[in-house]
Amino acid sequence: MYLKSLEVQGFKSFANKIVFKFHNGITGIVGPNGSGKSNVGDAVRWVLGEQSAKQLRGASMQDVIFSGTENRKPLGFASVAITLDNSDHQLPVEYQEVTVTRRVYRSGESEYLINGAACRLKDVNELFYDTGIGKEGYSIIGQGQIEKILSGKPEERRELFDEAAGIVKFKRRKATAQKK
Ligand code: ATP
Ligand code: MG
Repeated sequence: MYLKSLEVQGFKSFANKIVFKFHNGITGIVGPNGSGKSNVGDAVRWVLGEQSAKQLRGASMQDVIFSGTENRKPLGFASVAITLDNSDHQLPVEYQEVTVTRRVYRSGESEYLINGAACRLKDVNELFYDTGIGKEGYSIIGQGQIEKILSGKPEERRELFDEAAGIVKFKRRKATAQKK
């Protein structure tokens, strides 16, 4: 499984629709300060279901929507789509390719789609359990995160090992069953 492409539109500094194509290897993103490099990482975090505005370096969730520039009006929505190659079926679905889309409007309305079909955030989370991708995953190592892991509580470190060992989905199912 690998990241094939990322499509952003109206997300942070990306007013126009842009498609980033990645290959099964290392990609570096370079550019001057303030040109939007970190916004690319934020887009990946956001489409995977990030719910914290702070994690996305904003004050409110609506801050991800393009807020306009001197010569361009603000936009009414932000949309990000991530496409993963799934030919090795590491994601528990039959598709060779999986596209997850997230959209949010200024009105506060939002939606998630998996391969074009509307779904819940829960479905997106479940798709990525135990893959290292997703909100609790370790595929996105943010600034300060290494420090947090090293100085964190044993229980917090344990969560990372659970994810790597592939037992998160069983723990979640057990917790849900116990609630019922
Ligand atoms: P550095 O090299 O300093 O880390 P960077 O390339 O990582 O810079 P980013 O932090 O990704 O830069 O981008 C910051 C730019 O994104 C700023 O110019 C900021 O105005 C712009 N930006 C952030 N949110 C929005 C938004 N909602 N609408 C329009 N522009 C935005
Ligand atoms: Mg940056």
